[in-house]
Amino acid sequence: MSNNNVRVRFAPSPTGGLHLGGVRTVLFNYLFAKKHGGKFILRIEDTDQSRFVAGAEEYIFNCLEWCGIVPDESPKHGGVHAPYRQSERKDLYKQYADKLVQEGKAYYAFDTAAELEEKRKSSPNFQYNNVTRKELKNSLTLSAEEVKELLDSNVAHVIRINMPTDESVSFNDLIRGEVSFNTSQVDDKVLLKADGMPTYHLAVVVDDFLMEISHAFRGEEWLPSAPVHILLWKYLFGLDKMPQWAHLPLILKPDGNGKLSKRDGDRLGFPVFAMDWIDPKTNEINAGFKEKGFIPEAFVNMLAMLGWNDGTDKEIFTIEELIASFSLERVHKPGAKFDYEKAKWYNHEWIKKLSVDSLRPLVIAELEKNSIKSNSTILDNVIDQVKDRCTFISDFVLQAGFFFNRPTTIDTPSIQTKWAENKTTFFNDYTVALADFEDWNGPSLEAHFKQLATDAQIKPGELMLPLRIMLVGGKFGPHVFDIAAVIGKEETIARIKNTIALL
Ligand code: GLU
Repeated sequence: MSNNNVRVRFAPSPTGGLHLGGVRTVLFNYLFAKKHGGKFILRIEDTDQSRFVAGAEEYIFNCLEWCGIVPDESPKHGGVHAPYRQSERKDLYKQYADKLVQEGKAYYAFDTAAELEEKRKSSPNFQYNNVTRKELKNSLTLSAEEVKELLDSNVAHVIRINMPTDESVSFNDLIRGEVSFNTSQVDDKVLLKADGMPTYHLAVVVDDFLMEISHAFRGEEWLPSAPVHILLWKYLFGLDKMPQWAHLPLILKPDGNGKLSKRDGDRLGFPVFAMDWIDPKTNEINAGFKEKGFIPEAFVNMLAMLGWNDGTDKEIFTIEELIASFSLERVHKPGAKFDYEKAKWYNHEWIKKLSVDSLRPLVIAELEKNSIKSNSTILDNVIDQVKDRCTFISDFVLQAGFFFNRPTTIDTPSIQTKWAENKTTFFNDYTVALADFEDWNGPSLEAHFKQLATDAQIKPGELMLPLRIMLVGGKFGPHVFDIAAVIGKEETIARIKNTIALL
């Protein structure tokens, strides 16, 4: 297949928030498409009306937009294969299900929900499969006349795949290599529901065909469905037309085994969704990386490294670098353990790396959210001074807020532990000296301060922490004389005087 025929898809069902694993699936699809000059398609798989959640589709679009991933074709962006929402393609699917019935590859099943419920009650592991179907009400057990009569009188029915008995179905997974299944282990999945809607299994195959998908990458949890999809490909379109599959490894809990879940995030105190997601049914709030203060570049970089690397020690990648280096051969087969401390490390590295221009709007929004009005003449200087100290955008509130607003609380106990009268005298004299000091920049202020301390016979080191607390409110922030340089003469003197009055 020539490169420009690469067409991949992310095919979410709009049933809730987008978990880390979902965004990583988007990302790997996108990186692969862009690397090969192909197209990335977003298709909404909403045929299961009972699981439909209002707002979930819009939320998926918002998450992709935040990550900087723009689909080439989607319900929102259009495209030659529109519509991209399966519910709007409903009428397309029935003909394929009918064809399968005609060829004996699928059959009508007339069992009512109550009858099947009864079966499940009497045998908890009940599956509609090559054994049980022989005792159930379907076009394989009923006579042709009976079936015709039921169909003519519009008795509710579904169409199920007729899973062959004891056949081997295999395919070559781009990550796992050859994967085989025995068909006897797979149940007769419903393909078309009583309401005429296709199930996911039929719709995914038909749409991957009609949308000319060349590669289908999805989470490992879909591997058990692969034999059904392969058989549908074989029956309907031919295996030579089937996309190349890759089932992406799971993202695992940081501790123990198993797939990372929202519960793990709640238990260990970190988000597992890309953005805040409020479940419209329960009003439950699921925290998102965005609102937690992650920047999209870091989030995307961190996700790409969950189960992939470029074969070197390089860890920080821009999206362009990821596109250039990405290859499926380097996606690891085992699941990748999620490490929140590492995720924070990525964010910190990215905040350090980003230019003041890129950080400015994020910082302004964060400060405003905390009622801090940032003064534009000093903002860029402040961002530059404190960005190395921030892991989250929200850290700018503490690290930068005092530049704009006088601290409301001052850690006076930390000053008082080593306080003495001569220090009060020193700082009183210092405010007087500062009033006449003209060379208002960090290095000159530092030299001046140290000279005055020496003259007063106090070690400068003993005075620096009190000065910091006076200007900042606590024991943090960048170099203290750089802070004084930025907040200016009047404000520096006022903050020193205010604190002395509290001691
Ligand atoms: N609709 C499926 C989902 O919700 C897509 C699985 C696939 O990519 O085939 O994840």
